[in-house]
Amino acid sequence: MSDNHISFPTEVMSCPHLIGGEWSDGSGKEFDIFSPYNGAVVGRSKNASSEEVSKAIYAANLASDTWKKTPLKERTSIMFRFREILLREIETISNTISLESGKTLNESRAGVMKGVEVLEYALSLQNLDSAAKMEVSRGVQCEYRREALGVVASITPFNFPAMVPMWTIPIAITLGNCYVWKPSEKTPLTATLIGQALIEAGLPKGVLTILNGGADSVNAIVDHEDVKAVAFVGSSKIAKLVYTRATSHGKRALCLGGAKNHIILLPDAEAEMAGVGIADSFTGCAGQRCMAASVLLAVGEVDSQIEAIKNRALETTVGNKMGAIITKEQVEFLDKAIDEAVSEGAKIILDGRNTKAPEGLDGGYWLAPTILDHVKPGTTAALTELFGPVLSIIRAQNISEALEIENSNEYGNAASVFTNNGAMAEIVAKNASAGMVGINIGVPVPREPFSFGGINESKFGYGDITGSNSLNFWSDIKKVTTKWQMQNDHNWMS
Ligand code: NAD
Repeated sequence: MSDNHISFPTEVMSCPHLIGGEWSDGSGKEFDIFSPYNGAVVGRSKNASSEEVSKAIYAANLASDTWKKTPLKERTSIMFRFREILLREIETISNTISLESGKTLNESRAGVMKGVEVLEYALSLQNLDSAAKMEVSRGVQCEYRREALGVVASITPFNFPAMVPMWTIPIAITLGNCYVWKPSEKTPLTATLIGQALIEAGLPKGVLTILNGGADSVNAIVDHEDVKAVAFVGSSKIAKLVYTRATSHGKRALCLGGAKNHIILLPDAEAEMAGVGIADSFTGCAGQRCMAASVLLAVGEVDSQIEAIKNRALETTVGNKMGAIITKEQVEFLDKAIDEAVSEGAKIILDGRNTKAPEGLDGGYWLAPTILDHVKPGTTAALTELFGPVLSIIRAQNISEALEIENSNEYGNAASVFTNNGAMAEIVAKNASAGMVGINIGVPVPREPFSFGGINESKFGYGDITGSNSLNFWSDIKKVTTKWQMQNDHNWMS
């Protein structure tokens, strides 16, 4: 574990709800939180009951009246303090993220810093998001006013316990909403630390609510009449369910789903750049990120680049360079998927199964990087989101065939191309069926102020979850038209 020293707690950590500004253990059914590093129970929480959800949203609604009327600059000053506290506490927060999600400490720190980038974007809104006002006719002025929605909800996945919530917390709260957060039941410990940081920063009671639990807690939140908007990030199956449920109540919803990201590798790609970029994409966070490479579309003669990918992946040892898989069941699912791919004709060129656990971590959930070559289009390994460090290589004759395979996949989060040819890169950028495209970038996450979001089955709803495309999701734009004096020369508009 040389450069990845995670501290394990000596006692099981508690993971309370945050209701009306008070921490509460709750009264619902208890559940355990396991560390993927050693399989030990590291925390315990309870499912928020429907009474607790009602109580929490009642308190949030009460807080909303004052919070939405608080001037933007005052709301922002709390978020400035929040940023300082996050940076001060980054090591504690990162350790907790790693402990419960299996990430390496470096990945956890990077997740917090990406959250800080979104926070910095939210801090800039007080200066940049000035609404327009103009005289549209003689004596008549029109203006835009951005108004908070009230109580909004966010449901987040296990794989980025801080970063994904931080896509929405800073923007939604800075814009004047009261935010109800239901973290993943697999990784809720980080939420307590983020809640503590916001309280220390001076956030008024009820502006942030944290409710733990699973599907029942989500449904109670989504169904509550005072929740005006629902953001969701997780698998496509659940994203669709939550989107349908929220919109059936007439609520706005933005639900980001799963992914099956394709990288097109062309023969002129620089081998070292492709090796590092593609291997780090499918092994980073042990393949458990929605932007991870999953399918490599190898066009023509690219054996030297594939060798470079394999060599880089071989160096990515579990426990220090690559973290753990979220659950034992997920390791079993991945092992089975690899067996199935082989039975469907794939050839294993790097086998991560039965890898030796890092010293002292035998109880953890491990799978080393795995590469399957000659995967056939249409098979499970080619189509299904596996969510682990497994790269499926499909051989393609030319770029058109590669794009056809990429386009036929139901997801649409990310796609990349590795090439030195600008015209080929442009063909991929124009024709890939994905919301985020990379050129010689394995994980093409847009940085602020650019927005994050996919298309097709990777996103249900309109807009993106971060950046400028998210502002209208978290607010209403009121149009105010004003006249103070009768005009002698009035026309039909006056
Ligand atoms: P998940 O869908 O299992 O869970 C996400 C959230 O939904 C959790 O908070 C969970 O408690 C809740 N939930 C689970 N079942 C539910 C149900 N029946 N009804 C209502 N809510 C329910 O996802 P996960 O396993 O935590 O995360 C991994 C998935 O998330 C992958 O598919 C990954 O691609 C996706 N993801 C997507 C993005 C993106 O930006 N598109 C980002 C991160 C993760």
